[in-house]
Amino acid sequence: MTRVLVVEDEPQLVRAIAINLHARKYEVDAATNGNTALRLAAAHPPDAVLLDLGLPDMDGIEVMRGLRRWSRAPILVVSARIASDEKVRALDAGADDYITKPFSMDELLARLRVATRRTSSAPSAGGEGTVVTGGFVLDLVTREATRDGHTVRLTPTEWQLLEILVRNTGRLVSQRQLLDEVWGPTHRTHSNYLRVYMAQLRRKLEPDPTHPRHFITAPGMGYRFER
Ligand code: CA
Repeated sequence: MTRVLVVEDEPQLVRAIAINLHARKYEVDAATNGNTALRLAAAHPPDAVLLDLGLPDMDGIEVMRGLRRWSRAPILVVSARIASDEKVRALDAGADDYITKPFSMDELLARLRVATRRTSSAPSAGGEGTVVTGGFVLDLVTREATRDGHTVRLTPTEWQLLEILVRNTGRLVSQRQLLDEVWGPTHRTHSNYLRVYMAQLRRKLEPDPTHPRHFITAPGMGYRFER
């Protein structure tokens, strides 16, 4: 059974989430503040965490930092904070996804399914060497890309970007992390680099670059790779 830790200080919302999760055979722990959340997580390690940012005793980001010291369970931030720098801050602190309140229960359940499926199907962070999608195949070891049976030439920078996105398949990677890892911390603000390179990757790999299915933009936040 999948154990979900719900960290939320609105009792009605906790109840609604718990009812829906129980109905789908999840096991649920609930904490209404950060200290309880950290204590509960240590006692019963969760498979996934739904985390509110505005908690009575500490900021949700602090809870996330505490969890990330030892847990790799997916953390889905559920917050009314809509500013994109808040979202980026949460992603940089280790969140896997960000759901803005108010949300529909169906959306929450769908995102939770995606997050837990990813961890159970990915045995290690490095993962496998070959990525197969409907449109193209990537061999990350030999750095060969083929699309419809034809070789696609990618630059070393494009491979670097691809590797980070593939390593985080299904998960939003912040612009800052991508810029940091590929170009270094001094280029952290150069989001235009990313726009250019993502456009190239789409042009080379996407079946229809104007309607990307694999390289998804989350405006103002980052990018996500979907198989
Ligand atoms: Ca709250």
